[in-house]
Amino acid sequence: MKAFYTKASMEFEQRDVGLDPLAPDEVLVKVRACGVCGWDVLVAQTVAQDWSPIGHELSGDIVEVGSAVPGLQVGTPVPGLQVGTPVVVENSTLCGVCDQCKRGNVAHCVTLDHHRSPGGFAELIKVRYTSVFPMAELDYRAGALAEPLTVAIDMVEMAEIPLAGHVAVFGPGPIGLMIAKLALVKGASRVYLTGHAHSHKRWEVAEALGVTDCVFIDRQDLSSYFEKAEPQGLDRVLVTSPPATIADAMKLCRFGGIITYNGIKFGGGERIVLDGNDFHFKRLQLRGVHSIPNLGWPQAVELLRNKTIDPDLFISHTFPFEQVPDAVRFAATARSETVKVMVEVG
Ligand SMILES: [Zn+2]
Ligand SMILES: [Zn+2]
Repeated sequence: MKAFYTKASMEFEQRDVGLDPLAPDEVLVKVRACGVCGWDVLVAQTVAQDWSPIGHELSGDIVEVGSAVPGLQVGTPVPGLQVGTPVVVENSTLCGVCDQCKRGNVAHCVTLDHHRSPGGFAELIKVRYTSVFPMAELDYRAGALAEPLTVAIDMVEMAEIPLAGHVAVFGPGPIGLMIAKLALVKGASRVYLTGHAHSHKRWEVAEALGVTDCVFIDRQDLSSYFEKAEPQGLDRVLVTSPPATIADAMKLCRFGGIITYNGIKFGGGERIVLDGNDFHFKRLQLRGVHSIPNLGWPQAVELLRNKTIDPDLFISHTFPFEQVPDAVRFAATARSETVKVMVEVG
């Protein structure tokens, strides 16, 4: 079977790889669709110092089950995992046996299962049965949006958005757009989305989602904009932009405000300079949201199925499997045209 590998900077290779036989607790998934994530772009640009598998936002069909995988239990509401079940595949899975899992703090699991071979840009992928979730009647490309949506759900839950709250979301990428929509669903009465004006396609989607205010950070000064628009300060700021922008988020928050953050930068950009007095006197909270392990699959599948998050709005481009390198390069360079770049594997 064929699988793509990448190496910095932006090198790609399609390989014929053989897979080991399934372990008793594994399932073999025929990949149908896999989205290109900002992380995949980073991996291809800088992170992969040696040849590495790529892709983690995927859906597909179970084509083989290990001997110890529990089958369909007749009469129970839990869907079984059997050959033919369409599933989404987790990026990482809680172990269920470590100290934190046993305390019920599954989000803080310290021995996460990243077990998979190879990445999502492959014809087949082998994972533990605990790492898949049945996606019912969703189509495969929609199912591949479930993984980034679990991140958006986590950001919104961590932010505890108050009813009729005023909220800003930094960064109009696919996850930022999903967050903006979920903030409205949670009852925010104003949702500001900030980003660069050239991301035309993303602003179109923002409008279609009902975002109340789009703020172009290259056309107006953020502080003076919000001084006028929100003199009391914002209730919540959800940051999906680079770390340096957390300082702005703190300035814009009202007394008692909460900032959630999910964003990555390397090469020095990971440093943040904060006003410690603001932090103290405004009684702010800054919450890191790693979303590993991914949780919230049932909600993600439901929100995609009922089109609260409309897959057709988010999937801007689809490439065939043979063109994975083009898909990643396109996602890296054509930000004004793209929202989510998807690869149809088969
Ligand atoms: Zn991702
Ligand atoms: Zn654990």
